[in-house]
Amino acid sequence: MFICPVLFILVSCQSSPDLTVITVKGPIPASRMGITLVHEHLLVDFAGADSAGVHRWEREDAVERITPFLNEIRELGVRTLIECTPAYLGREPLLLRELSEKTGLHLLTNTGYYGAHDNRYLPSSFYQLSVRELAAVWIDEFNNGINGSGVRPGFIKIAVGPQDSLSADHQKIVSAAALAHNQTGLVIASHTGPDIPAFEQMRILKTYGIRPSSFIWVHAQRGTLEGNIKAAREGAWISLDNINGERDLKPGDPFSIGWYADRILVMKEKGLLEKVLVSHDAGWYTPGEENGGEFRGFTDIFKLLIPALKERGFTEKEINQLLKKNPQNAFSLRKVTS
Ligand SMILES: [Zn+2]
Repeated sequence: MFICPVLFILVSCQSSPDLTVITVKGPIPASRMGITLVHEHLLVDFAGADSAGVHRWEREDAVERITPFLNEIRELGVRTLIECTPAYLGREPLLLRELSEKTGLHLLTNTGYYGAHDNRYLPSSFYQLSVRELAAVWIDEFNNGINGSGVRPGFIKIAVGPQDSLSADHQKIVSAAALAHNQTGLVIASHTGPDIPAFEQMRILKTYGIRPSSFIWVHAQRGTLEGNIKAAREGAWISLDNINGERDLKPGDPFSIGWYADRILVMKEKGLLEKVLVSHDAGWYTPGEENGGEFRGFTDIFKLLIPALKERGFTEKEINQLLKKNPQNAFSLRKVTS
């Protein structure tokens, strides 16, 4: 049963099935998301959990560097960008809110912890907390905002290692995400990669009563085609999220634009287009580097992938499904406690 979000009046819920997403400026109806990039980064700091923090950059410098890239995609029709940088890796809600106000784009940020890369982005407090206490940290961000900013997360972002079995620490992260999902209705997007950890996470989530439709398999392009199909049939979101035209310039690189277009075509032929998400995993401002270092923009989907899909017979309606409807469905709150 769908439970009315507290911020919607009951009448509107009964008369309209419109759902809610939570942007850095507050909740909006999902139908207002428009064309959406589901996995991008605006600022990332790989310094590690011990040393990362807002003291490492000047917000105004980052705003100045990032803004033109957001204006560029706004002109291409993008209305929403989902910022996937987790806590302790450069997540800064106030930066995102300022960028949203300045550019008019809807931006979403996240709660959750990033366990991949040998736990170097996990804070030391992680090891002292039980699963329930860890979930409580994330639920508190949902209810009260992140670090006093008033900005609430629009999804749960976690990360696990690519190994064939999840470590105890990563099982703890997935379990905490499950508890947080059940309290908040936020979708769980997990940096995953290969098939086996994807299915292992889906199995753990099921033990908490969570359907695969509340799980986004991030970096699913690193999984097999068969794995993508199987997970999508179970209801999971298949995030093909490193669309990058530069790869076409590297002979032998498997992740070319044509490669992505072919995989999306197979998903369509299997009747699974409504489970596919696409993005660039691009950006970003890097603290400590001159003028934020290299910044990859967010245009290859529009300049390269969409033409490649049209060559393969995709209609406007199907492209809208990929860029509008699927992100709305994936990131809408499923259930909200009152
Ligand atoms: Zn990413």
